[in-house]
Amino acid sequence: MPRSSSAELITLRVSIVKELRNKWKKERERNPYVNEHFGGFVNELLHDILEKDEFLRHYAPFLSEEGCTRDTLYIKDFKENKIAEIHFSENKLHCSLCDSFACFHIQFAMATPRVAKLNLDQKTIDNEIEEDGQQVKKITNNKRRRNTISRI
Ligand SMILES: [Zn+2]
Repeated sequence: MPRSSSAELITLRVSIVKELRNKWKKERERNPYVNEHFGGFVNELLHDILEKDEFLRHYAPFLSEEGCTRDTLYIKDFKENKIAEIHFSENKLHCSLCDSFACFHIQFAMATPRVAKLNLDQKTIDNEIEEDGQQVKKITNNKRRRNTISRI
């Protein structure tokens, strides 16, 4: 594809290009109007992100993302002059400020890219699987024991 004089070369990580190419292919399969050029697709994707940021600034000018840890997203509310802490609880996003699963801070958090940095508690899921596994093991062992006893 010919580059226009206003184009600029940038370096992308190989792994990112691979992910982007997969996304582009999948989206082209679903929607024929997706840009037929990979470069054009990436440009549109980045432009969409910038537009979303602009939209958020208009939609919620009094909210701002202040930071993020592994399990909490911090959103400054300038109206309340307080920080809303958003984290996963019962597999849903929860706002500590409103004690709500459906407040404006949650809507805002959902629109930020960093929401994806919040880890769904893998440990809890793993522990549940582990506990289920242990339960099955116990039941199986009990049956075995009973069988052994009944055979005696
Ligand atoms: Zn809230």
